Amino acid sequence: MIIVMKMNATSNEVDSVLARLESGGWKTHISRGEERTIIGVIGDERKLDQGTLSGMDGVDRVMPVLRPFKLASRDFQPEDSKIALNGHVIGDNKVIVIAGPCAVESMEQMMETAIAVKEAGAHLLRGGAFKPRTSPYSFQGMGEDGLKILAEVRQQTGLHVVTEVMSPDQVDLVAKYADVLQIGTRNMQNYALLNAVGQTRKPVLLKRGMMSTIEELLMSAEYIMSNGNHKVILCERGIRTFEKYTRNTLDINAVPVLKELTHLPVVVDPSHATGRWTLVKATSRAAVAAGADGLIIEVHPNPAEAVSDGEQSLKPKRFAELMVEVRRVAEAVGRSI
Ligand code: PEP
Ligand code: MN
Repeated sequence: MIIVMKMNATSNEVDSVLARLESGGWKTHISRGEERTIIGVIGDERKLDQGTLSGMDGVDRVMPVLRPFKLASRDFQPEDSKIALNGHVIGDNKVIVIAGPCAVESMEQMMETAIAVKEAGAHLLRGGAFKPRTSPYSFQGMGEDGLKILAEVRQQTGLHVVTEVMSPDQVDLVAKYADVLQIGTRNMQNYALLNAVGQTRKPVLLKRGMMSTIEELLMSAEYIMSNGNHKVILCERGIRTFEKYTRNTLDINAVPVLKELTHLPVVVDPSHATGRWTLVKATSRAAVAAGADGLIIEVHPNPAEAVSDGEQSLKPKRFAELMVEVRRVAEAVGRSI
């Protein structure tokens, strides 16, 4: 249920509505827009006395929220969420670019990549220390040693780091080193993990499950937000279709669909969406043209030697070329980068 206050509602009137709801045991979420205030109500709506609320001073109308996600929905909060990241803001005019290798492999590899992507204009650094691999025999990541490398590289370059957390018991450890917690595609519906990152106050990059609908992605965001952490960044990283030429199919529709349904920022991962470095530039351009708030791109100094995802990783020089082109697209659609 949302309660839309009148344009000229006073703060006392808003407070009275909040007090009435809270005394009835409902949780409220308040969104103060430029024009009017909207109060979102969470709880058993059948017990809500719509008539009484509609009659309260300052209330314009009371409307049900038909969608299953509430805190994530644009009905609850019409204005875009803006999340601070390393002195930048995601969800605003600027397109935020996160770049780096699939996995942390060594200090040299991370430093070399970080310096190159920063020089090319990336805003944040990525790199996995805990890797969710399809095979248990593949490299599983450097673990805490990898996190220490990320922290050291951040210290030296000033680039904040995005890294994956795979289980609830790793959240404290990863949060100690990381600036943004990544939830991978395979864990999008790991509800214990979503609850655990929801308990932190770190921004969360939530990747869409490779076989999940947009609504399921938003329900997972709702898990994190209902724990009090509203800093959720959604990531479209490609879904499974019958097409075999590419690793996944970039669901470009997801960008404008999410922009309609939610106020949360949306990032696109063209690397995992295509699985081939030759396709990353074109799909990055498309993502920005479609309205993405950011990109997350795999870059490796020597993709042929990468321990994971080398086929989709760009060499630093190619990443720099991509940035030039993406900047042009951003400017063409009234954005900056
Ligand atoms: C990654 O970012 O390296 C990764 C494993 O991504 P995904 O969870 O989207 O496969
Ligand atoms: Mn990867």
